[in-house]
Amino acid sequence: MLPKGHKLPDNFYSSKKVVVPLGLGIQKIDACENDCMLYWKDDKELQECKVCHHPRFKSRKRRGNKKPKNVPFKQLSYLLLTPRLQRLYTSQATAEHMRWHKENPGEEGKLCHPRDGEASKHFDHTHPSFAAES
Ligand SMILES: [Zn+2]
Repeated sequence: MLPKGHKLPDNFYSSKKVVVPLGLGIQKIDACENDCMLYWKDDKELQECKVCHHPRFKSRKRRGNKKPKNVPFKQLSYLLLTPRLQRLYTSQATAEHMRWHKENPGEEGKLCHPRDGEASKHFDHTHPSFAAES
């Protein structure tokens, strides 16, 4: 899935060694096994689902004097959006693509880009200061 001429090693672990220091982090958020809720914000410390009461962590046996590590039944990997957007605007080449929708208005009456849709127009109208900064 990488473009031709990419410099990443073919091995996943070697590629990870290259990508991780770039700082495009992943936030791990525990989730209910039945997809009822996330253990996030106000619910961060809960030990069981507040909807179906399924336990958050698998039961683990104690090994020696060590306290067993809590292993969640399910975990969500959240790709942090802000650092990714900051990266896209850091490069002149990609920043140009990020602003394209604003600098190239479409034809009136034609739906060629998501910005031509009613939802996008409504969002721009509702949040004018956000829409002004492409
Ligand atoms: Zn649940």
